[in-house]
Amino acid sequence: MTKLIPIEEDAVVVGYMFYCPGCNENHALYIRPSKVRSGATWDFNGDMEKPAFYPSLLTIIEQANKRFRVCHLYVRDGKLQFLTDCTHSLAGQLVEIPDQD
Ligand SMILES: [Zn+2]
Repeated sequence: MTKLIPIEEDAVVVGYMFYCPGCNENHALYIRPSKVRSGATWDFNGDMEKPAFYPSLLTIIEQANKRFRVCHLYVRDGKLQFLTDCTHSLAGQLVEIPDQD
């Protein structure tokens, strides 16, 4: 059981996925100094039990050029702090990162 699923490229961990219970899907965070095509990378505290990433993660899902869903969160101390601009039901809430197999 783990909160974070490593993302590997050429046998090197370049980031982690975690399950977002607000979106009901995984989000990916690429860690510095990895270079990824999207360009966005985060600082990771290296703690698999109580992970923290900085800065926040903003996910905007668009459909037909309209904002369909916004998810904005901080990963801190093994928890997800959802900010109030999320469009899902966990906006403004602090929840434990779900364990995954
Ligand atoms: Zn989300």
